Amino acid sequence: MYGIVLSRRDFREADQVISILTAEEGKREYIARGVKKIVSKNTSHLEPATLISFGIAEGKKEWSYLTNVQPVESFFHLRQSLPTLHIIGYSLDALLVMLKEGEHDSDIYQFFISYLRFLDQQSVVNILLLDAFLIKLFSHLGYHPSLDACVVCEKSYKDIGLEFLSASEQKPGFYFAGGGVICVSCKIEKQRIGEIIYPCGIKEINTLRFLLASSWQDIFSFLLAEEEYKLVHKLIYEFMLYHSERKWEDWGNITF
Ligand SMILES: [Zn+2]
Repeated sequence: MYGIVLSRRDFREADQVISILTAEEGKREYIARGVKKIVSKNTSHLEPATLISFGIAEGKKEWSYLTNVQPVESFFHLRQSLPTLHIIGYSLDALLVMLKEGEHDSDIYQFFISYLRFLDQQSVVNILLLDAFLIKLFSHLGYHPSLDACVVCEKSYKDIGLEFLSASEQKPGFYFAGGGVICVSCKIEKQRIGEIIYPCGIKEINTLRFLLASSWQDIFSFLLAEEEYKLVHKLIYEFMLYHSERKWEDWGNITF
């Protein structure tokens, strides 16, 4: 089997539990025997964010054991830069928390490999790549933000823009419970009955569309003013908090 190591943690005397995003079976946990002994030949291949091939031996109890671990891609370069390591660490954490055990999705596997390969080729990175990774990941997981029309009245994206320009100068919004963009009129109506709408301008909607649709290279080259970055980042962060049961550290405060 093939898989990318997501994490390793100590288990019993000399063993570790290795969490792997496998090509065929989604996220799975296996025991690596004796990896805490310095002589173990498996140790270095089991670093998080390594693509490995491996065999499995079924154990007596509920655990399966890793056998014959071979490195396929080590992504050596991305381990040389602290900002990249920080981005990878956060991304691995998001996968660990959000993926369900044994739920197969080859898209997510390929998506993560393409991301690692891209980061491995860069000597510098920017934090927008992490924002893009997270919104793309949530979109893969079924939380694709609806950005083409108002999620309440179905007013088109174009008409949402016109309404914003002509009338109130009020921003449209992002309606988390509704799964996407909401026009100014529906926003006012929803807020009147006490629903929470996150303010979201046309620029942020455009940036979100771009992040969801673009390649890693295009996202990396994308020029975004600091103020605009903050707005779209906050939106992605709040979106992520809304759709997961965990409190996430705000990665927007990391300075490179
Ligand atoms: Zn509407």
